[in-house]
Amino acid sequence: MASEFDIIRRHFTRPVKRALLGVGDDCALFAPDPGEVLAVSTDMLVEGRHFLAGADAARLGHKALAVNLSDLAAMGAAPRYATLALAIPDADESWLAQFARGLFDLAQAFGVELVGGDTTRGPRNICITVIGTVPPALALRRDGAKAGDEVWLSGCTGDAALALAHRERRIRLGDAALAHCLARLDTPVPCIALGLALRGIASSAIDVSDGLVADLGHIAARSGVAVGLRYAQLPRSRALKACADERLAQQCLLAGGDDYELAFTASPDARARVEALAAGLGLTLTRIGSVGAGGPGAVCVYDAGGSIMHIASGGFDHFGS
Ligand code: ADP
Ligand code: MG
Repeated sequence: MASEFDIIRRHFTRPVKRALLGVGDDCALFAPDPGEVLAVSTDMLVEGRHFLAGADAARLGHKALAVNLSDLAAMGAAPRYATLALAIPDADESWLAQFARGLFDLAQAFGVELVGGDTTRGPRNICITVIGTVPPALALRRDGAKAGDEVWLSGCTGDAALALAHRERRIRLGDAALAHCLARLDTPVPCIALGLALRGIASSAIDVSDGLVADLGHIAARSGVAVGLRYAQLPRSRALKACADERLAQQCLLAGGDDYELAFTASPDARARVEALAAGLGLTLTRIGSVGAGGPGAVCVYDAGGSIMHIASGGFDHFGS
């Protein structure tokens, strides 16, 4: 039976590159580059809550790191380091090897070093902390949106929620749509390049993890502004356009969550720069609404006729009803 230290050595120890000291001592040691500050974020994935028992280990390793890197993207930070606190019910070598492969493949793709963590027996739980760097004046905070700014979204929302609806047998997707949506749900790709490119351009940003309306609500609240969204202008994937259940499609688009796209605000003066960076990165960026002064903290969704739509649920809340 592998000991805790065998597990750490075999599966989670890699030579450090940028860090002064990584896995194996009481603490990791590293420093930000001159002129930069550290950006730190933690996200936890709990079995039965965020993933089902029996979920593919490699995809879990990928997703656990991806959702964390998405927060660095939303801050405009460059990813550098990560720590992993892992609870597992048993020392399943094959599970650990697959999990580590999924995690390190993504870590390598984004230049992230795993520099520490904790390993314990318990109900399966994956908690990653990521550490990035950003010049403090260029960090993409939630509190910088101003009345008159435009609201932008990368990619589109709703696909991960569609995959979940399929898994829960609320709809049946065709093979191609299912493959596309499952990839969005299980192996999201964090928008790191976009976050870096938006430094000095976006006035505020957030990653869409809990639902578009709910997450824009955080920008509205922190910035003391109102956000208006134009429903007809929201980008939709082919899978979402094909969804015959209009109510479900609306729910997925506005409140689905697990999208890991970036929603951000920018002055209309910056429109050409936003469009240029989208072309440069090969990304779709869509103007989906605008920022207003009235009703601070509110997000209103308008239909094609300009009337306010009634939205059943804004997003996901672990303690909400
Ligand atoms: P301590 O007793 O000081 O908490 P541990 O015995 O828990 O140290 O861990 C030994 C070393 O292995 C530490 O450097 C710790 O950061 C690292 N470590 C433990 N678990 C993991 C993990 N799952 N991934 C990466 N590093 C880990
Ligand atoms: Mg420990």
